[in-house]
Amino acid sequence: MRLRNIKGAKEAIALSPYVVQKPEQYRGRWNEFFGNNHPLHIEIGMGKGKFITSLAQKNPGINYIGIELYESVLIRAVTKREAIGECPNLTFLRYGAEHLEGVFAPGEVSRIYLNFSDPWPKERHAKRRLTSKEFLERYLKFLQAGGQIEFKTDNRALFDFSLSQAEETGWNLREISYDLHHSQYMVENVMTEYEERFSALGNPIHRFVAFPPTKQGIPAICSIDATSLAPDISNPVS
Ligand code: SAM
Repeated sequence: MRLRNIKGAKEAIALSPYVVQKPEQYRGRWNEFFGNNHPLHIEIGMGKGKFITSLAQKNPGINYIGIELYESVLIRAVTKREAIGECPNLTFLRYGAEHLEGVFAPGEVSRIYLNFSDPWPKERHAKRRLTSKEFLERYLKFLQAGGQIEFKTDNRALFDFSLSQAEETGWNLREISYDLHHSQYMVENVMTEYEERFSALGNPIHRFVAFPPTKQGIPAICSIDATSLAPDISNPVS
């Protein structure tokens, strides 16, 4: 999602109390930032912020950080954040996923949400996909041993790529669903902007949860939601 440049977005973000300007200073101290010892959940590539804002309102006992690379997109989340008022467990960063190791200390994050990440369809760009081996390796530098990644997309080829990258690198896969909206996991589901748009078009939504590799080498794929299997590739990476 790259919206056209929005005039004044850069300045508004620089002044916003809802965006942490130098997040590196809180590395290892996010509990101090939030003023409590609650778990920290982050969404990387949050877009306009509907998903993480809804979660923060629902779960006051969890701290949330929404991360977005582009100012033109982040400003939409900031505007939404301004409208809801009191929500002390939510903040935003304008930051690139590539550099988060400098923002979070080892074991500081207990959950990472990746929703409808950019597919980067060209093979030569595979490393840029937020679920590539390279990114999964980076996440291990700050995700708790007992933490998890939750990934959703409507892009079947990106989903299959992500499953295989996680499997090859020893992540433990759970709750694999090829049609989330017709699965048991829908009960707890909070929709993102992209999810609303693509499910309205009739696209099935895919989702998995991945736990970091363990030294014991637990088998990678542990549960597949058989009620929502859709084996054909209907939506190539494009
Ligand atoms: N998660 C939202 C949703 O489901 O509605 C937005 C999905 S949109 C397709 C992907 C978002 O990830 C875009 O807003 C894009 O700017 C952001 N993004 C892409 N690469 C990123 C990166 N390396 N670091 C942070 N954000 C990134």
